[in-house]
Amino acid sequence: MSDGVDCAYVVARVHRLLDGELGEAEADQLRHHIDACERCLDEADLMALLKSVVRRSCSSCAAPETLRLRIVSQITFTRIVIDPGR
Ligand SMILES: [Zn+2]
Repeated sequence: MSDGVDCAYVVARVHRLLDGELGEAEADQLRHHIDACERCLDEADLMALLKSVVRRSCSSCAAPETLRLRIVSQITFTRIVIDPGR
């Protein structure tokens, strides 16, 4: 990518972006990268899907944080193994 944003940086923050936990400037930077980067777009889509599944299966309670982190780190780990990245 030519925008100077590292894909690993984006992937590590995409769940916080989806949760609206990032500041406006950082969120804009990540969204801009995701729009232009197919790999990070896939990651964002997958994360959004995961979130909707977790939300649906546990609608009345917050998803257990440890479970969420385990799923997220598993996905990230799998991605790194399958696609060592750029
Ligand atoms: Zn990327």
